[in-house]
Amino acid sequence: MPAPRRTHGSPPDALVGESIPAQGVAYTPSVVSWRGKAQMFGGKRLLVTGGAGFLGSHLCERLLDEGAEVLCVDNYFTGRRANIAHLLSNPNFEALRHDVTMPLFVEVDAIFNFACPASPVHYQFDPVATTKVSVNGAINMLGLAKRLKIPILQASTSEVYGDPAMHPQVEAYWGNVNPIGPRACYDEGKRCAETLFFDYHRQHRLGIKVMRIFNTYGPRMHPNDGRVVSNFIVQALKNEAISIYGDGSQTRSFCYVDDLIDGAVRLMQTPKDFTGPVNIGNPGEFTILQLAEIVIEMTGSRSQITRHPLPQDDPKQRCPDISLAKQTLGWEPKVALRDGLAKTISYFEDLLSGGAQTDRRQQRLDVQEMHRQIGESFRTSAPEGSIRAKPLRQARRSVAG
Ligand code: NAD
Ligand code: UDP
Repeated sequence: MPAPRRTHGSPPDALVGESIPAQGVAYTPSVVSWRGKAQMFGGKRLLVTGGAGFLGSHLCERLLDEGAEVLCVDNYFTGRRANIAHLLSNPNFEALRHDVTMPLFVEVDAIFNFACPASPVHYQFDPVATTKVSVNGAINMLGLAKRLKIPILQASTSEVYGDPAMHPQVEAYWGNVNPIGPRACYDEGKRCAETLFFDYHRQHRLGIKVMRIFNTYGPRMHPNDGRVVSNFIVQALKNEAISIYGDGSQTRSFCYVDDLIDGAVRLMQTPKDFTGPVNIGNPGEFTILQLAEIVIEMTGSRSQITRHPLPQDDPKQRCPDISLAKQTLGWEPKVALRDGLAKTISYFEDLLSGGAQTDRRQQRLDVQEMHRQIGESFRTSAPEGSIRAKPLRQARRSVAG
C-alpha cells in the first residue's frame, strides 16, 4: 500500500513559501529563525538522500546529534557503507538502498537532497546517469516534498557558475557554463535542478532551500575519487608524484566538512520565505600549486610535483562571496585550511595504514549488519508516524505501472 496522503486542505507544517522573490536570488528574510541550540531537530523525521556519501554521512551524523530520526537513502554508487556503519546501531537511524531516479514513498518531515556524484571523475564516468540523478532525482524528491508539504533543501554547487567571469561569485551571478562540454552533465544537471526547485516553489508554493556548495573536503572523502584534496594527500602519503593539472595557477576555495554541514543545518532552519540560493564555502582562495606545496609540507612527503594536461572547461578561479550566508544564517566558516587538512591527512593516514585493514574487516561486518537492517526495514511494517520506506521492488512496480 502506498503511504497515506495528507489532504490538500491541511495546513503546511513548516517552511512552505509565502512570499516569492522576483528571481529567487539574494532574497533576505527579515528574521533569522536559527536558534543556535542543540536538539533543534528533536523529534523530526529527516530524509537525507546520498546519505552514505562524503557529505551525506556527516549530515546524517549531525542530524542524529540534533535529536532527529534520520532516513538515509543511497544507491551506493559513490557512497560507502563504511561511512554510515557507525550509525547503524542508533535506533533513530535507518538506511535504505534506493536509486532516487525512481519514485520514493516515505513519510518524513523534511528532505536534504544530496544524492549525486560530486567528483569530476565520478560524474563523468556515466554522464547520462549524472544528469538523470540531478534532474529525475530532483523531480522525485520535489514530488515527495509536494505530497507531504514539507521543506526540501537542495545540495547545489558552485559549478552552476561554470568558469566564472565574475570574481568572487555572488548568488546573483548567472554563470558561464559550457552546455555541451564534459562537465555539463553535472553543471547543467544541477542548474536544471535549481530551475525545478524554483518552479515547484512558484507553482506549488513548496518550501525550498537551495545551497550552492563550494569545494568541500574532510574525512570520508573517497580515496580514489580524483578530487584534488584527496588526490594530493593520498599521493603525498605514498610519496608518489603529485599530479597538478595545467600550471597549477587555477584557484579553488576549500571548506572543511564540519563548516559546510553547519551551513546546511542553519539553512534548513531559516524562515519559510527564505529560498536562497545561498553560497556556502570558505572564501580563503588558494592556487592548486599552493595546495600541493602545503600538503607536501604538512605530510613531510618526498613527493615531487608532476604536470598533466588541464581537463577541458576546468574553471580558472573559484571563490564564494558569503555575505548572504553571513547575513541570513549568521554563518561563516571557522576551520582554517591547515587545521582541516591536518584532520583529513590523519584520516587518510589511518585508511592507508593498519587502520585500513581494520576498516576492511569492519566493513565486511558492517555490510552483514546493513543487509540485516535493510531486510528488517523491508519485512516489518513500521509503527504509525515513524519513518516508513517502500521496498525497492514495489517502487519499481509503481514506475512500471
Ligand atoms: P559523494 O559522491 O561522496 O556522495 C554522493 C552520494 O549520492 C553517494 O553516497 C552516492 O552513492 C549517492 N548517489 C549517487 N547517485 C544516486 C542515486 N541515483 N540514488 C541514490 N543515491 C545516489 O559526494 P559528496 O561530496 O558527498 O556530495 C554530496 C552532494 O553535495 C552532491 O549532490 C554534490 O553535487 C554536492 N556538492 C558537493 C561538493 C563537494 O565539494 N563535496 C561541492 C558542491 C556540491
Ligand atoms: N586537480 C589537480 N590535480 C588533481 C586533481 C585535481 O590539479 O589530481 C585540479 C583540477 O584540475 C581543478 C582543481 O584541482 O583545477 C580542483 O579539482 P577537483 O576535481 O577537486 O574539483 P573541481 O574542479 O570540481 O573544483
